[in-house]
Amino acid sequence: MSLAASAVAGFEKTYGYAPTGVWSAPGRANLIGEHTDYNAGFVLPFGINNRTYAAISLRQDRKCNVSSDLDGRSFSYELSEEMPKGLDWALYPLGVAWVMASAKDQGFDCFITSDVPVGAGLSSSAAVESAMAIALNELWECGKTKQELALIGQRAENHVVGAPTGIMDQTASMLAQADAAVLIDCQSLEIKLVDLGLSERGLVVAVIDTQVSHSHAYGGYGSRRKSCEDGAAALGVETLRELSLSDLPRAKSQLDDVTYRRVKHVITENQRVLDTVDALGRGNLQALGRLLQESHASMRDDFEISVPELDLAVETAMRVGAVGSRMTGGGFGGAAIAIIAAERLQELERAAMDAFSAAGFKAPRVFSVVPSTGAKREI
Ligand code: ADP
Ligand code: MG
Repeated sequence: MSLAASAVAGFEKTYGYAPTGVWSAPGRANLIGEHTDYNAGFVLPFGINNRTYAAISLRQDRKCNVSSDLDGRSFSYELSEEMPKGLDWALYPLGVAWVMASAKDQGFDCFITSDVPVGAGLSSSAAVESAMAIALNELWECGKTKQELALIGQRAENHVVGAPTGIMDQTASMLAQADAAVLIDCQSLEIKLVDLGLSERGLVVAVIDTQVSHSHAYGGYGSRRKSCEDGAAALGVETLRELSLSDLPRAKSQLDDVTYRRVKHVITENQRVLDTVDALGRGNLQALGRLLQESHASMRDDFEISVPELDLAVETAMRVGAVGSRMTGGGFGGAAIAIIAAERLQELERAAMDAFSAAGFKAPRVFSVVPSTGAKREI
């Protein structure tokens, strides 16, 4: 059964009638541009073929019921000005509803199903938010653009869930296109689709999910964000976006070592995103690979958000001949990506299993993802 069909089946089993429709949105992998979004910089993510599906019908009253096969639990919330609180995972879908609802809107019944790995750095959270936002936009006739819906998802995550994340994940999940990455200028929120051209070169994007959960990471994420804000303030700019490579010597002389290395990561990473777009445009795989390696090293050594499992995943991918590899997502666990010849995928899986076992790490999960389209109605 397709996941869209199982969302319908789950809905019917839970609520005893058929849903009005099913809407879906993808998780995302970030090709390059990490922790640059909240610094008003550049990111280059793409939607993946793992998606979250929400089967929904409006109700006659203002009650919102959400159920997910994540853990089989259900939560309820009555639409009001009062923000939903303390409802575990339901804060993601209900947070979106709370941000979007007007006084006239009806409540809904909703059943969620998904094959986006949770907590793997592939943004299962944005997939839930984006599927909800695209559904409610249609059912409540809000008439918002996809960019506006991405901002709504971010607001739900920041304000209702309380995770201080940037705009990358929701923008990617909303606006992704097949075979392309989305270059997002997080200052202007302008986007540009960038052709990846991987399949015609026999390449795939492999994901090495370390199975190290990053859910404990909000402290680390928040402290990195604070270092960036402190660095920007000390250097007299509103955001680190305003700085370029030529500002590095000044940053080094004015900042303490830790803040300098955080700032250096962001400045160099912004440049690497732009260089990656350039390398993809010219079909220069060598340059692409080098940029991915430099990005990983910067996150490991300067931004300090990698973990030994991610470093080993990247080293293993390079050893079996990947074009390039880096950790993806916010860090402190989650997944690495590798661009690699399709026929080497199995070898990568074996090598990663062996290397993780030899290091005494939990077995990783290795799979390939296909750059896929953004949020849409399915049924
Ligand atoms: P990531 O976005 O990297 O997967 P997050 O910690 O940002 O990790 O988001 C994961 C959280 O999103 C889960 O703990 C859960 O609360 C919510 N979530 C993700 N997928 C689902 C789902 N299918 N059903 C319900 N909640 C989900
Ligand atoms: Mg997330």
